[in-house]
Amino acid sequence: GDRVLVALVCRLERAVRLGDTVARLGGDEFVLVCRVEGRQHAQLVADRVLEHVRSPYTIGEHEVELTASIGIALGADARDAAGLSIGIPADFLPADLLRDADVAMYRAKERGRARAEVFDDSLRTRLLTRTETEQALRRALERHEFELVYQPIYSLDDGALTSCEALLRWRRPGHGLVLPGEFIEAAEVLGLIVPMGAWVLREACRQFASWQCADPGASQFTLSVNVSPNQLVHPEFVSSVRSILAETGVAPELLSLEMTERALLGDLVGALLALDELRDLGVSVWLDDFGTGYSSLEYLKRLSLDGLKLDRSFVSGLATDPADEAIAGAVITMAHALGMAVVGEGVEHVEQQHRLAHLACDYAQGFFFARPLPAGAFSEQILGATARATA
Ligand code: C2E
Ligand code: CA
Ligand code: CA
Repeated sequence: GDRVLVALVCRLERAVRLGDTVARLGGDEFVLVCRVEGRQHAQLVADRVLEHVRSPYTIGEHEVELTASIGIALGADARDAAGLSIGIPADFLPADLLRDADVAMYRAKERGRARAEVFDDSLRTRLLTRTETEQALRRALERHEFELVYQPIYSLDDGALTSCEALLRWRRPGHGLVLPGEFIEAAEVLGLIVPMGAWVLREACRQFASWQCADPGASQFTLSVNVSPNQLVHPEFVSSVRSILAETGVAPELLSLEMTERALLGDLVGALLALDELRDLGVSVWLDDFGTGYSSLEYLKRLSLDGLKLDRSFVSGLATDPADEAIAGAVITMAHALGMAVVGEGVEHVEQQHRLAHLACDYAQGFFFARPLPAGAFSEQILGATARATA
């Protein structure tokens, strides 16, 4: 890895002019400060950099290929062909310039990587929206703007309710109900996910305990709660789980935590430690969105997880796409062989349910059974129906 970096830096230096600056920000991020004649010229330099980076590297006996995603921010004195200033105002700080370049780089990644994008007005608007969202998000917890909805998970064997997954919603003033896809990532970046996650766990456990109290004789189901990577590796995480369970009276055996493979990509040691402690505590751990990440078999072997959640993208093609059927079947067989159970996610049609059952999948979840519901509606429609069915 170090040798690739060194080789890469040589290429970068060759791609720019004498007097330009090449710096490594950290990891695999570099900054080039170049004197340019304007936007088109900047684009030209970027194309040259992409060109240089792209040709293969020979490291020892290995051939390595790299691509770069480039974000361009133009400084105050950048002018277009007509001599008009097209850069940002002169009172801008270098840190702002770096931030803008960063935002543009993310657009380059979104648009398929190995390309360059210039920071422009549309990105400026996006940046403003992001800043606004961040500020609103910081206050959302103390202003009690979060809510949970619950989605049932059923056994494909006998149709029994086996679990309910708590899903976070943000009732943002002026924006209606906001889905987690729009704010979880920001919450992670801002370091808000730890207090938010603790709130989710406490609220879900409190609700779950009250369901259990209301009908102690009801057949048992479990509670599933999503955990973000940064939350899992936080040093206080396991002790906060322990105290929330104690405080709400929920038995550890009835709690499942769902994490994605992303949790293992950062602080692997921290994640493994937390998983061990959770196991000691008696809490189950499931791997979420299985099939979308690295789906590393090495992890599956090492982690002794309780189960996998087969991602919706494979479930959606069941009954229409033979490739999805093959993948789903293989994942389920492998999971069972390793002593894990499988939940099929995102079941929207009865045929998908039939195919999953046919492939010996254990559990299923999706709009076909029920959408995520507020606690009240969940009691009435899901728990009520279960009670009526058993009565
Ligand atoms: P996930 O854990 O994979 O959750 C399932 C998502 O699929 C939910 O989206 C759910 O509404 C949606 N879904 C369920 N059945 C169907 C279906 O049949 N069709 C379709 N199209 N979608 C279905 P939601 O609630 O928007 O949550 C998105 C993601 O946000 C979750 O994906 C999870 O990764 C994350 N998330 C949600 N709540 C929390 C939380 O409390 N903490 C953390 N860290 N992440 C959360
Ligand atoms: Ca989940
Ligand atoms: Ca999932």
